[in-house]
Amino acid sequence: MTTNKSVTEPIAAAGTATIVADIAIVGGGLAGSLAAAVLARAGHRVALIDKRAVHPDEFRVEKIGGQQLDMFRRLGFIRGLESVACSFDRVLNIRDGKVVDVSVGQAYGFPYANLVAMARGQIPDPSSLIVDEVIAVSCSDDVQYLDLASGRRLNARLVVLATGMAGALGYKLGIRRRVLAERHSVSFGFTIARRDGAPFDFKALTCYGERTSDGVDYLSLFPVPAGMRANLFMFRDPTDPVMRELRRDMAATLLRLLPGLRPYLGDFHVTDRVQNWVMDLSVVEGHVQPGVVLIGDAFQTNCPAAGTGVGRLLVDVERLCTEYAPRWLMTEGMSKEKISQFYSDRDKVAADQRSLKMARFRQALTSRNDIGWDARRRLHFLRRNITHRVDQMRPGWLSRFRSALRA
Ligand SMILES: Cc1cc2nc3c(=O)[nH]c(=O)nc-3n(C[C@H](O)[C@H](O)[C@H](O)COP(=O)(O)OP(=O)(O)OC[C@H]3O[C@@H](n4cnc5c(N)ncnc54)[C@H](O)[C@@H]3O)c2cc1C
Repeated sequence: MTTNKSVTEPIAAAGTATIVADIAIVGGGLAGSLAAAVLARAGHRVALIDKRAVHPDEFRVEKIGGQQLDMFRRLGFIRGLESVACSFDRVLNIRDGKVVDVSVGQAYGFPYANLVAMARGQIPDPSSLIVDEVIAVSCSDDVQYLDLASGRRLNARLVVLATGMAGALGYKLGIRRRVLAERHSVSFGFTIARRDGAPFDFKALTCYGERTSDGVDYLSLFPVPAGMRANLFMFRDPTDPVMRELRRDMAATLLRLLPGLRPYLGDFHVTDRVQNWVMDLSVVEGHVQPGVVLIGDAFQTNCPAAGTGVGRLLVDVERLCTEYAPRWLMTEGMSKEKISQFYSDRDKVAADQRSLKMARFRQALTSRNDIGWDARRRLHFLRRNITHRVDQMRPGWLSRFRSALRA
């Protein structure tokens, strides 16, 4: 079977009982939608199946920058990203009311649902998106079969599971989630505005926690099309009464946890629903199977405070969709040996490990209160602050010094 002969055929004519595709992607969140667009643009016949036509307004990643942007650019999504996001290039970082430093670099803030809609919009043939629920998958070395809740069936050579944190389908295939850290972090997402309607004095601001006992890693404030978005990341028991207080009266509780914020925010209020997530850190086991491959959160979950989820899923999408899947489709069969090439890809393994390492680092930096971590925490912020002061006195000197060291 080759990929190109059927490119121009629509995937899912309404009422078709059996749909045939080269690649069936289950889950049209960010990972699945980007993967579908990359593969379909390259001429593969792709079916993207998601329960919902429009991704709901759920709290997930809401800002990206740095190397993640290079990958968006390489995969051809940077224009799309710019069309749904607010751009900013400076973040004022504070702790205890004092400036730690200023981060400089392009970044974007957006609602997750809009980013997913953008990715889905890049799939050349809209009929590739099938709004349905996959209720069963059976996989083999040859053809893969998917049963949809509507009663339709789908046959494909390769199944990509991009079902996020929903593990039921994988479970039926014998794929288990190993929890590495239960209830590892707690995150809150909400939008704020000043009561007098005036803009804030900063474009973007990060406020780090002041006391280890509070378990606050940081509050990140950044622009999105609807106003000033806030992401609060914590490492604290999700059953602690402070969680209820945060949900009930975010503004007052925030100022109690981060008193140094007050002069920067002025008289502000929360303008929308406070969304809240408790995250386990987990990774799948038993996933090396013929015909099926897992990407994004379906493979490994992330600590939101570490900000590595999108970086990981972009590596998954880039490696799978520009390297492995096209190569696998050129020859017969979809053996376990083919699938295992993706899971042992050097970049993928490195991104997954970096994400776990970063998750543990952020937790320790926030809440460990032994002498060793106390010293490391002080040093961490002191080093950043000294670097910032040097950069203020001699602008550009440090970056030239660093480039000279790298040369
Ligand atoms: C609160 C929070 C904050 C975060 N902040 C950051 C951050 O600042 N930086 C960062 O890099 N990362 C962050 N992340 C991580 C990042 O958001 C995720 O890694 C990313 O969204 C995962 O995308 P995904 O496509 O794998 O999963 P999802 O977006 O969850 O998509 C899964 C999709 O699968 C569909 N689906 C599931 N089962 C079926 C089925 N049986 N049939 C059909 N469809 C199905 C669902 O409808 C859904 O659309 C954060 C995560 C959270 C939870």
